[in-house]
Amino acid sequence: MIVIGVGNLADKLGVHRNTIRNWIKDGRLPARPAPGKGIMLSEEDYDRICKEYGLDPSAIRVKHLPAAALKAELESQPDLDARALGERSVRLRPNPQWADICLTCGSCASACPISGVDGLDPRKAVRMVVLGLENELVESNWPWKCTLCGKCEEACPMKVEMVSLFRTVRGMRDRDKVPGPIHKGVVMCLNRGNNLGIPKDDFLYLLDELGEEMAEDCCPGIKIPVDKVGANIMVTINSKEPFGEPDDMKFWWKIFYAAGEDWTIPSVNWEGVNWGLFSGDDESMKTFVGRIVENMYRLQCKTLLLPE
Ligand code: SF4
Ligand code: SF4
Repeated sequence: MIVIGVGNLADKLGVHRNTIRNWIKDGRLPARPAPGKGIMLSEEDYDRICKEYGLDPSAIRVKHLPAAALKAELESQPDLDARALGERSVRLRPNPQWADICLTCGSCASACPISGVDGLDPRKAVRMVVLGLENELVESNWPWKCTLCGKCEEACPMKVEMVSLFRTVRGMRDRDKVPGPIHKGVVMCLNRGNNLGIPKDDFLYLLDELGEEMAEDCCPGIKIPVDKVGANIMVTINSKEPFGEPDDMKFWWKIFYAAGEDWTIPSVNWEGVNWGLFSGDDESMKTFVGRIVENMYRLQCKTLLLPE
């Protein structure tokens, strides 16, 4: 068994000490706190990690523990608790390399279009994760102010995945504490097929009515095709349009009419805006995507049009 200081090992491998702690936490490097200071790990694991980093294991000064002393020590220890090694982060599992690769250069903060709104600073968010301040980040407004636009990632010279970070943190907020209407929209969509709960009959009536208006105004003979099997394009809809801006849907339909396109709208589960994506709710997101896929199969359409 090898005993070595975390700082010493990190230094030799050229990684941050938090990276070593993350490896231990994730099981990539099986190790335990050693008597006194440092960690202890098996000769095999030590050799493996050195080789991965192109190091000669014998070039690093380590202490070898005699087997008997070690056995007694192991038996006296509970399983490794990450907190014993100073870790505070227990739920968020960021890429452990962030601790090493973030240069704290601030390019992300400069590129972010809403940097400074409620103090949002993507660079600080990355540092908070690295330092294990996950609860503070989850409780903050930052993940919800962030538009997930990805400008920070684009500007980052080290390609730190900040969009994924913010979305993951959104998913960690208790659902009843998700700000604004998006979680309510998710529940509505699960129960009624669209984010605003528009009943099927009202929706179909509206499509008929708009079609009649278009036929009179500009597109003689148009009828809005619902549930047409075998159409080329299946169109999904942002529920705010039938709810509050129905005329906006006509723009697409006029183009289809002029182009002689073969298209259709499903009569159910036509919602095209996936609020599960925005609220970090993976399960609901999958359900909504699955419904669209189901409609595509049911109607045997070749092309999907999403409004967003
Ligand atoms: S741009 Fe990348 S490397 Fe620079 S501070 Fe932001 S996350 Fe760190
Ligand atoms: S993804 Fe979020 S943090 Fe990054 S630039 Fe866009 S708004 Fe800013």
